[in-house]
Amino acid sequence: MQYKRILLKLSGESLMGEQGYGIDAQRLNDYAEQVAEIAAMGVQIGIVIGGGNIFRGLSGASKGFDRYKGDQMGMLATVINALALASALNAIGTKARVLTAIRMEPVGEYYSKPRAMEALNAGEVVILAGGTGNPYFTTDTGSALRGIEIEADVMLKGTRVDGVYTADPEKDPTATRFDKISFDEVYTRGLKIMDLTATAMCKENKLPVLVFNMDVKGNLKKVLSGDKIGTLVHT
Ligand code: UDP
Repeated sequence: MQYKRILLKLSGESLMGEQGYGIDAQRLNDYAEQVAEIAAMGVQIGIVIGGGNIFRGLSGASKGFDRYKGDQMGMLATVINALALASALNAIGTKARVLTAIRMEPVGEYYSKPRAMEALNAGEVVILAGGTGNPYFTTDTGSALRGIEIEADVMLKGTRVDGVYTADPEKDPTATRFDKISFDEVYTRGLKIMDLTATAMCKENKLPVLVFNMDVKGNLKKVLSGDKIGTLVHT
């Protein structure tokens, strides 16, 4: 197995599938099945899920909402997605536990590293909801933070593109994909993989990030099996 313990980042936006909003049941189940498959292989899995399919603080602010409250709404949106994913995993027989960055028992247990480690060591999928628990952050930063805390071997950033390109492949047909790239080069080339806070945290704490297409079923297993897919971003 390529990695023993992973932090998987799923974007909220991907969860809405072809619909314009909310949770697409098919996409949710596809994700749950992919996660269940690698859980059965014995991989320890922490998952951070975004909330952009429901609410984003910044876009709320652009419509006149208070940013602080908007970000709290965004964090709650990630909790909704986390509950949906936990429920989909449980339905196919995979144990999953939701830990929240903001206290809200009984919706989820309050996050602490020992609690997360205990669940990971017991073979449960741990869904880390509520981002960092603070406004002005993103779930990418939440993933970096939790990935470092749980001492994950890698952050797997599941997206709808198959890696990092020299330019946006949807706009520039000559764009080529990197197999590997350093955090510094990502910065100097101005490539947008994650926000700068998340990138800096991963770089400083030497947490590599593998960007891959999570929307192709079986890809998550391929990553764990050591197949060369996606782009590895390293220190
Ligand atoms: N958010 C926040 N603090 C965090 C993580 C998230 O305030 O630590 C809020 C923020 O408003 C963000 C929203 O939650 O817009 C949804 O998260 P994100 O945009 O990262 O989700 P994704 O883009 O992955 O769907």
